[in-house]
Amino acid sequence: MYCDIVIKNGKIIDGTGNPWYHGDIGIKDGKIAEIGPHLKGGKEIDATGKAVCPGFIDMHSHTDYILPFFNSMESFIRQGITTCVVGMCGTSMAPIHPEKKDVFKEILSHFIPLFKDFEFTWCTFTEYLVEMEKIDVPLNVAFCVGYENVRICGGTGFENRQPTSEELEKMKEYVREAMEAGAFGMSTGLIYAPQVYAKTEEIIELANVVAKYNGLYFSHIRGEGGTVIDAVKEFITIVEKSGCRGGQIAHHKASGKPFWGTSEQTLQLIEEANKNGVNVTCDSYPYNRGLSTLMTALPLWAQEGGPEKIMERLQNLDVRENIKKEIMSTDTLEGWENWIKINGFDRLYISLAHTEKWKDTRGKSISEITKMKGKANEWETFFELLIDEELGVFITLESMGEEDIKRIMASRYQMVGTDGSGIPNDPSLGAFHPRFYGTYPRILGKYVREEKVLTLEDAIRKMTSFPAQRLGLQNRGLLKKNMWADMVVFDPETVIDKATYEDPHQFPEGIGCVIVNGEIVVENGVQIERYPGKILKRPT
Ligand SMILES: [Zn+2]
Repeated sequence: MYCDIVIKNGKIIDGTGNPWYHGDIGIKDGKIAEIGPHLKGGKEIDATGKAVCPGFIDMHSHTDYILPFFNSMESFIRQGITTCVVGMCGTSMAPIHPEKKDVFKEILSHFIPLFKDFEFTWCTFTEYLVEMEKIDVPLNVAFCVGYENVRICGGTGFENRQPTSEELEKMKEYVREAMEAGAFGMSTGLIYAPQVYAKTEEIIELANVVAKYNGLYFSHIRGEGGTVIDAVKEFITIVEKSGCRGGQIAHHKASGKPFWGTSEQTLQLIEEANKNGVNVTCDSYPYNRGLSTLMTALPLWAQEGGPEKIMERLQNLDVRENIKKEIMSTDTLEGWENWIKINGFDRLYISLAHTEKWKDTRGKSISEITKMKGKANEWETFFELLIDEELGVFITLESMGEEDIKRIMASRYQMVGTDGSGIPNDPSLGAFHPRFYGTYPRILGKYVREEKVLTLEDAIRKMTSFPAQRLGLQNRGLLKKNMWADMVVFDPETVIDKATYEDPHQFPEGIGCVIVNGEIVVENGVQIERYPGKILKRPT
């Protein structure tokens, strides 16, 4: 057969976890047409000495916030990601209640100012996917529905209370609509207000709707530090009682030095659940800092009622004093990590601030900023930042231990997720987190080649066939005849991440060629402006 493209003489790592073998791969009409020796094609790519593997599937992405504005997804494409799953941590871009479009816009624009002038042309999940299909994408995108959207649409909103039975029925209807539109599942983010107010029973009810459509339950669980074990238990209960075919713990970690080592127990719980027939897995990224918003460092009561209420509280000096007292007197509360007390202001770094006044604080810790700006103390810096930035401050938080990172990575229930977004290579967008650029090359370079935490074949399995199987994508994630030709050619001897916390907009090295649905999107390490990606729907 004469193929469109042939990748010649590569070490084929097929995604199953089996050892590599030599061969040529022929691509025709977007799919893998043939694997064997001496194939001929219109375009031939020499992969001598290089590894050839399926494209990476990012199980946990927030690219949905970026997609309406930027579609180049450079930070993802250049690290070999060919499919990403969005709508994570309980937040998605649909559904939006028609009468609450302004509220939604307000929430989003606190963190991404571009939303201030954005017109939402959709309300339902179906309408949203239709709009997303109009955008040219360089890689495939799979969507999930966020619990926060469902809660706001259902009427409970930001209030700290349980939904009435009528509201709960409405919420179920929104989940149903999203699943029928093609969502792969529902996600929750149970440390974030207002999601944190949801009781286990309520989530089981909603996840039960997901189960009826053979979807997955994804969760940023109720605690990742002092309460991580209980949070994993709650997560397993939700998957079991709802009857979901599977559950996915998002960006699994043991956060906060006093709690390092607890991943031993959480992985044990995951193992036991699987033995008992409850199919739960997790994803993680290879960095010791998390990314969040500064606002989440506030006690839960101070986060109640939405942005306006929170701002009011922060202006009040007595309330500030109460916030400070509560933070310093409590180690951890259910659903609240208390990052300031546990990690300290010196391990809490500003990754993105928008105003002129604070722009130059990017990459610096609150302690450093306090000195730099001549503030009386770190609390003053903390409150001023929140007020001036109208809450829209992103932080990175040095909270994880290397042993937990490796233990989770080595677990057979783990797969890879960036917890990042495909963004354009534009430093003016802010610092964010190096994982946006470096997740996959960092695992292949640091954890496979240098530290030998995983074999190359097993790492590739966790990046390809495992997430594909999880999502029910029968025709992706493996190098096999008739699969979609999503592929990466990389140099296992040199592949490495280059992005750092101080300078996160750096492309990795060693990723030579990336192919999406049979079209080359990266050649000789350079992105080509092509958009062969597809909006994926849950297979039925
Ligand atoms: Zn999360």
